[in-house]
Amino acid sequence: QARMAALLDRAVDRRRRPAVPRPRRARPRPDVTICGAGFAGAVMARQLAEQSGKRVLVVDRRHHIGGNAFDEQNADGLLIHRYGPHIFHTNATEVVDFLSRFTEWRPYAHRVLADLGDRRVPMPINRTTLNMLYDAGLTGDADTAAFLAARARPVDPIRTARDVVVSAVGDDLYRLFFEGYTRKQWGLDPSQLDPSVTARVPTRTDTDDRYFTDRFQAMPRDGYTAMFARMLDHPGIDVRTGTDFHDIDPADRGALTVYTGPIDAYFGHRFGALPYRSLTFAHETLPQRQFQPVGVVNYPDPDVPFTRITEYKHLTGQDHPMTAITREYPSDRGDPYYPIPCPENQALFRRYQTLADAEPNVIFAGRLGSYRYYNMDQVVAQALALHRRMMAVPVHA
Ligand code: FAD
Ligand code: UDP
Repeated sequence: QARMAALLDRAVDRRRRPAVPRPRRARPRPDVTICGAGFAGAVMARQLAEQSGKRVLVVDRRHHIGGNAFDEQNADGLLIHRYGPHIFHTNATEVVDFLSRFTEWRPYAHRVLADLGDRRVPMPINRTTLNMLYDAGLTGDADTAAFLAARARPVDPIRTARDVVVSAVGDDLYRLFFEGYTRKQWGLDPSQLDPSVTARVPTRTDTDDRYFTDRFQAMPRDGYTAMFARMLDHPGIDVRTGTDFHDIDPADRGALTVYTGPIDAYFGHRFGALPYRSLTFAHETLPQRQFQPVGVVNYPDPDVPFTRITEYKHLTGQDHPMTAITREYPSDRGDPYYPIPCPENQALFRRYQTLADAEPNVIFAGRLGSYRYYNMDQVVAQALALHRRMMAVPVHA
């Protein structure tokens, strides 16, 4: 009888209590799960949701969207790039058209000086650099080209990042601008790296002191994070930050996966870890309006432990009584920022790529998923192309 009373009490209680919410039904399984909310993941998400009508879940283990392009206001109200300076530049109209749906732009031509201790000269090396260093009195493209040719030590064939530079400017300028910087940045001598690494930095015979010569050079007017927020703002897209892809039960994943994390991590580093170079960013606010005359100053001196200093106000155009700067200290440890382009790493990557090709319904994309030293625009172009290919052959999800 006591048991019956207890049961009745409970029944009454239950009726009086507001309805107990049933354990929330897991969100409907997405069609596509995307690992990473950087450029690769966000562009794929938008295209899959909007163009292909898919329900997309984007996860990032960091607590924010934007990947390495993430920017934020620091404690002093200055817009900074948490993962180092990101300057947008491209020749790809398709990429500009796509991103322009999510942001206005602020025109910005990036300029870099190399700090040589006693003076600062334009980088990439141009006519002004040579005149400042050698008091060479060069006045045109022809005499500048002849000046460089007299110093250059042609290497044929060009096999390394060192060969690229000594072939163009000779050993002295190579040592001054590239040897120390590259050893710091990569922990390797330029002779151990692919030509593509230093080929990113041209040599000029004119006085153009812009770092990039792309047709389109601009910064997202409200910052990268705002642009990503708009890109991911679509009813078909669910974003979960602070979530590791590998912690999602495979049963809760979509039939298709887009993986933009490190490709070796996806396969449990089965063949050994792919080397990535990391950086430590030392962010600082200074109580002055301006710190340096341009957005970035490079420090090629091997005795200076950092590679470069960025002052964001040049990039963002922000008007503020203080200024924010970041020093970059290269490191073997930490988040994977740079795939390291050299033949051994490429060989190891190819072994992972063979596994990736055989992995059903998983697409690898982005700088880490492709193990390629891609700029932002190249990642956007890759994602747009991958999606286009999927539309042509709709085998997934
Ligand atoms: P990422 O931005 O790295 O995004 C990948 C995301 O995946 C990350 O957010 C990561 O947290 C997440 N992730 C990884 N594993 C997991 C997991 N297991 N679970 C959940 N999430 C995971 N490019 C330019 O064009 N101009 C520049 O000026 C420029 N400057 C740069 C400066 C620095 C210091 C660095 C490091 C890069 C720079 N880049 C620049 C390159 C640019 O950052 C990349 O091209 C671009 O951000 C790559 O986008 P992504 O989506 O491939 O990768
Ligand atoms: N580099 C150098 N000295 C410089 C600038 C660049 O030695 O003053 C070399 C270095 O190896 C660097 C590479 O050129 O990693 C590519 O430079 P970039 O500025 O494109 O590097 P990122 O902005 O991608 O770090």
